[in-house]
Amino acid sequence: MTKCMVCGDEFDPYYKAQRLCQSCLDKFTKRYWDWNAYRKQGYTRRPTCIVCDKPMMSGFSVCPDCRPIWEKIYYQIMRPRTLIQARNRMKRTRDKAVKAAFESRLRTGLDDDIAAARKVGLSYGAYMVRKKGLIR
Ligand SMILES: [Zn+2]
Ligand SMILES: [Zn+2]
Repeated sequence: MTKCMVCGDEFDPYYKAQRLCQSCLDKFTKRYWDWNAYRKQGYTRRPTCIVCDKPMMSGFSVCPDCRPIWEKIYYQIMRPRTLIQARNRMKRTRDKAVKAAFESRLRTGLDDDIAAARKVGLSYGAYMVRKKGLIR
């Protein structure tokens, strides 16, 4: 069990370095992306602090009191994305390697059979029928 660094609730971390409980993680992830969407519309300043919801007197998205914790929260909400991206990238590379190996095996296997069929003077189809008969 780990203590959430924002609300203090205990939770089971999903990955080792998780310091935010799932509900805080969801909350701040949503707030961050909402704020990002706002910024794209041309807003440069949040009316309230992204962390504590106090009205902003200075700064753009985080009040001075929350800046240190926001840095940690930001790291936490970006981390699952990088983890998932890394995992997907690894999976894609592995899938590609497996597929390539399978295809090359298929191709060489096919080439061998074609060559063997030619050698005994049969069509490829006839050769395969006979080969299957032999194997059985
Ligand atoms: Zn929490
Ligand atoms: Zn604040």
